[in-house]
Amino acid sequence: MQQDKQHPWVILFDIDGTLLTVDSKYNRSHLRRILDELDIDYPDMETDSFSGRTDHDIFTSFLVNHDFDEELYQQFKTRYLHYLQNVLLAKTERVQRHDHIDEALEYFFEGDFICGLLTGNYPQAAHIKLKAADIDRDFSFGAFGEFEKDRNKLPGLALQEVEKHFEFSPDPSRFLILGDTPRDIKCAKNSGMRCVAVTTGKYDREELEEHGPNLVIDNLAQPEKWFNEINKNGKA
Ligand SMILES: [Mg+2]
Repeated sequence: MQQDKQHPWVILFDIDGTLLTVDSKYNRSHLRRILDELDIDYPDMETDSFSGRTDHDIFTSFLVNHDFDEELYQQFKTRYLHYLQNVLLAKTERVQRHDHIDEALEYFFEGDFICGLLTGNYPQAAHIKLKAADIDRDFSFGAFGEFEKDRNKLPGLALQEVEKHFEFSPDPSRFLILGDTPRDIKCAKNSGMRCVAVTTGKYDREELEEHGPNLVIDNLAQPEKWFNEINKNGKA
């Protein structure tokens, strides 16, 4: 498709650590319960880092001692989604909505931007967590970690989604990923997208800067200010 002008910026929001945080002790106690109910032998669950990983990656890794049994994986997935829908959604105090996210959501949703999700969550998990945090924005599309182990594949899914939903060929350099982990930065760089990294997850400024994002911010306040910095900085 021929383009004579640049398309609107596409803003890709990560969820966990960026917009909200689910109480990890509480969450892991339920993951442990499900592992035990299904007799899954995975002693390292309490110590693994889940930051920036896809649900597909995290939950298949639990099956290392079970030949990655697909049926068992599907059973785990069903019980996990049941827990989110029926337990977490009734315990919304376990989901912390981050400060200042409304400023950013309002700025990007009200302006000439396309807003999507780029998250390791299953789609249903993403929607339940957003609902639990009372974030009811209508994202245009999502690139989710349902079938991909590797987060680096998610930007490609986002490009496909944009191509499907909009009348233009997407230019990755007009995509901005907002995330909280080195994996968000890496997947943006691999795909020629920009990345603003926020320190509201498990990583501090120094750790994030090591991976070379376009910008590191402490929270999503004053979006116009930091977005303009990205927009004027021509280098991807
Ligand atoms: Mg995250």
